Amino acid sequence: MIAKISEAQASDVDLAVKAARKAFDHGPWRSYSGSKRCRILLNLSDLILQNIEEIAYLEVIDNGKPYNWAYDDINESVKVLRYYAGYCDKIHGTTIPMEGPYLAYVRKEPVGVCAQVIPWNFPFMMFWWKVAPALAAGCTIVMKPAELTPLTALFLGHLFNEAGVPAGVINILPGFGLTCGTPLVQHPLVDKVAFTGSTSVGYHIMRNCHEHNLKRVSLELGGKSANIVLKDADIDSAVTYSIRGAFCNSGQSCIAPGRIYVQEEVYDEFIKKAVEEAKKRVVGDPFKKDCDQGPQISQKQMDNVLRLVEKGKEEGATILLGGKRLGNKGFFIESTVIGDVIEGMTIAKEEIFGPVLVVLKFKTLDEAIERANNSKYGLGAGVFTKNMEVAIKVTNALKAGTVYVNCYDICAVTTPFGGFKDSGIGRELGEYGLSGYLELKTVIIKIADDALP
Ligand code: NAP
Ligand code: MG
Repeated sequence: MIAKISEAQASDVDLAVKAARKAFDHGPWRSYSGSKRCRILLNLSDLILQNIEEIAYLEVIDNGKPYNWAYDDINESVKVLRYYAGYCDKIHGTTIPMEGPYLAYVRKEPVGVCAQVIPWNFPFMMFWWKVAPALAAGCTIVMKPAELTPLTALFLGHLFNEAGVPAGVINILPGFGLTCGTPLVQHPLVDKVAFTGSTSVGYHIMRNCHEHNLKRVSLELGGKSANIVLKDADIDSAVTYSIRGAFCNSGQSCIAPGRIYVQEEVYDEFIKKAVEEAKKRVVGDPFKKDCDQGPQISQKQMDNVLRLVEKGKEEGATILLGGKRLGNKGFFIESTVIGDVIEGMTIAKEEIFGPVLVVLKFKTLDEAIERANNSKYGLGAGVFTKNMEVAIKVTNALKAGTVYVNCYDICAVTTPFGGFKDSGIGRELGEYGLSGYLELKTVIIKIADDALP
């Protein structure tokens, strides 16, 4: 056991939402000048950096990711916070010409009280992907971190006070999905729900949150992203990016390339190199400097990954590397590479969320595109080829929120992130991420006839 954490119930949710409502309707946050909100968010970012070692430590003991990765996640989160801090005094509408003696303009206003529910795979980063644009817009927040990883969110609480964020603007509620998450997303005083997690819970939230009012909803859900490697590709680079994407964060990443489609002429070469590269990965103590991969988040997740690997074997795939638990202490899984995977197998359809590279063979480009799109998900996709015309054709054809060419799993604060189909609704990051926290208000003013030009 690491720590004992209080568990918020429906009555706590009610108190927190009412505090956020009061802070939105009567508190000073949204009426502060943009530059004042910006200053406070920059204070926060400085405070995070002053505490980076402690936060990284908490993230590692909570989540199990390598310390260096946790440290990077925090630096990336600070970039997100500073990016949106910069927006605070640049949120403005437009004037729009219209017929008649009227002046029309559009204001952008904060959407209101936001319920934010995040998962355990990137606890700190997901917190900031949601909180930073909401605060920049002038919203107030009730945040539920994942039950498995509440520590860094709770640590942040006192930094908000120190930075000058007024009381009630952010409320952090550790608790379980059913007993805390459900009443939160249902609460009639909440204006917007922003969720990251599994597609099944995404559906649940979508059905649940509109019981009392029509909340704005953004969902960032699962994926089974296809990465297509064509025969003219730089195979070394395709292997490196595929491995990095698939094994990143112990494979617990929504945009992991969960299906690698390799053209038959280069299939054997790809497999050989992928196995060699996967073998080099260091799995173990996340505090060791050379660690590439820590444990899975929980026994349940580890068991599920191993169950899916077994299922792959039963259905006829070949385990080329790994496939087993590593040792018998902690939830470590060997870096695993699986070949001879064909369409219809469970591991070709379901999100594995573990350190497993799933490789499929294809003959023609059109076939690869069709198979890549044959998924309920559409979060990420990739294509490796030296032919840019082919690359552009493929990027246009793939149904995914982000399509990579000759790289994979590159993420920037400036570029929108989100999914097609069952991978979600809406976008995070960049300007689009901010727009999810803003309402448009059209103002039409009668002016004197002789005021017209
Ligand atoms: P999850 O159940 O979707 O959990 C995500 C968050 O939603 C957690 O904070 C969770 O609370 C909360 N939640 C659960 N049920 C809820 C409900 N009915 N109403 C409101 N909130 C609710 O994800 P998980 O169980 O942790 O992981 C299961 C699978 O989800 C993984 O194997 C993976 O496929 C997928 N996943 C995807 C992502 C992603 O980035 N897209 C991230 C994590 C997991 P608790 O604290 O009780 O869990
Ligand atoms: Mg769950």
